[in-house]
Amino acid sequence: MDRAKRNAIRDAWRLAKPYWMSEEKWSARGLLLAVAALNLGNVYVSVRINEWNNAFYNALQKSDSDEFFRQLGVFCVLAALYIIMAVYALYLSQMLQIRWRRWLTRQYLGAWLTDRAYYQLELTNATDNPDQRICEDLNQFTSYVLTLSLGLLTSLVSLISFFVILWGLSGPAAIPLGAWGTLHLPAYLVWAALLYAGVGTWLTIKIGRPLVPLNFFQQRFEADFRFSLVRLRENAESIALYRGEAIELGLFRERFRSVFENFWQIMKRQKRLAWFTSGYSQIALIFPVVVVAPRYFAKQIGLGGLMQVVSAFTSVQSSLSFVITSYTNIAAWQAVTERLSSFRERLSVVHKSAREPRKIVTGQAEAGIAINGLDLDLPDGTPLLRGVTFAAEQGDAVLIAGPSGAGKSTILRAIAGIWPYGRGEITLGKGTMLFVPQQTYLPLGTLAAALLYPGGDNKNLPATKLATVLTHVGLASLVNELYARQEWSQRLSPGEQQRFAFARIFLMQPSLLFLDEATSALDERSEAQLYGLLRAASWRPTIVSVGHRSTLRSFHDHVLEITAFVEDSNGGEGLALPPLVRVGEVICHVGPDPV
Ligand code: ADP
Repeated sequence: MDRAKRNAIRDAWRLAKPYWMSEEKWSARGLLLAVAALNLGNVYVSVRINEWNNAFYNALQKSDSDEFFRQLGVFCVLAALYIIMAVYALYLSQMLQIRWRRWLTRQYLGAWLTDRAYYQLELTNATDNPDQRICEDLNQFTSYVLTLSLGLLTSLVSLISFFVILWGLSGPAAIPLGAWGTLHLPAYLVWAALLYAGVGTWLTIKIGRPLVPLNFFQQRFEADFRFSLVRLRENAESIALYRGEAIELGLFRERFRSVFENFWQIMKRQKRLAWFTSGYSQIALIFPVVVVAPRYFAKQIGLGGLMQVVSAFTSVQSSLSFVITSYTNIAAWQAVTERLSSFRERLSVVHKSAREPRKIVTGQAEAGIAINGLDLDLPDGTPLLRGVTFAAEQGDAVLIAGPSGAGKSTILRAIAGIWPYGRGEITLGKGTMLFVPQQTYLPLGTLAAALLYPGGDNKNLPATKLATVLTHVGLASLVNELYARQEWSQRLSPGEQQRFAFARIFLMQPSLLFLDEATSALDERSEAQLYGLLRAASWRPTIVSVGHRSTLRSFHDHVLEITAFVEDSNGGEGLALPPLVRVGEVICHVGPDPV
């Protein structure tokens, strides 16, 4: 067995083991046992059918009609047993498969959402298409593991049973070796079967090996292609306004070309494999007859014996050929295992780093917010901002201003605890915090549910309260549609969506409020009205806004100005940084002294 396969088995075991040790372990093990027993039952029936061959064909040869009909009856019983067991083996193994998949899907979904791993993975671009790994790879993994392991078990047991039968039926062969005399090989049929299957397996692996990486990439290209289509749907309006169809079409074609080209490679490889495997199985039909024929012609065995040997030989040979017949599945299974293992590893790296002490230390105070000496970097370590320091009392408002790309939003990400790259101190007041991004997220469902998102606590709020808040922020026209289900993110204009985000603020009444360009799509009058409402709010929120519009300044007590500049290649102003990095620097505080 090559290293890749050993690793795949080890990885597959790591992925599979937790389920068999989980709270579902007894039902899982019970089902597995039942399916294995049914499969073995079928091997037993096959052994009996093999013996039946002898009796049946001998009766035929002797023209013994009574025995012939008796054997027909035996066959009907054996066949009925076989059918019942085959149906239940399939039914129960599918039951086991879907239960296992349900368990794994829950685990992976949990791990993907825990510690905001889904976001960290996007930040660092570490894993392609996690959605597809959870949907499809888990499905294929459970299916392949069960089919292949049960197939292997059945093949092994069937191999041993028929091996014994063949050994008993097979006489010795006398092979002339010229000057060395004659070699008497006992049970030569067994050796012939072994040799035939051994050579076949070796050749299959040799021809089929490139299928593993090809299958791996096929999954990836399919997912990339599908994802690009989903993006078109989500950004339908922007693309329609830009008339970007030609570019999108080009992109789709390019992505589909990868799918096509990779599939072409798979096809060519599978064709070669199919030449071999179909040739192999055709020869397998006739090979045992040719090998046994000398004994039949020498009258050492009858027609029944011949048929029994042929059927036993075929069984031994086909059990030995397990690898050959399942090679495509084995290759796909290896690829799926590899994809899931790397996903699992990435997730655990994220979870592990979430447990490590953070370099950006977060403390708690009675009220307000204080940021002290906060340095921020990009995920690859490139410095982004140095020495961010500011503070605000309860009820105060701070504006972080500066050109786009300077790192303003990243300061909010660091405060929210989702940007781990950097160091410094953040002290936050008690009470609820709310971050309002520039683009309002509207989940699928009713407007009322979207208003309460993600608050589980507010579920019991009466509809009148929701209506009042909507009216408050200038969305009275939506009051009648509170319980309508629509694609709200497509229907509401960006400005309306930003008003909607303010409605959420008034429902939640957070004591610390962070607004990231939250009024960028609104006219200045509406912006002034909404900020006015916030500043006059009875619960006196501490507000930190990010934005570059000059009109925003008048709604805030302090302004933190950030400038971006290109440092010259000699290092520049005494900053100990690599040359030619763009670094934002906090240059001045306007308004009352912030600290
Ligand atoms: P803004 O000041 O406009 O709010 P941001 O804080 O959003 O700017 O971003 C600051 C800089 O960090 C930008 O140049 C952006 O391209 C970069 N950046 C943001 N996220 C990542 C990321 N995941 N990987 C690399 N660079 C990033």
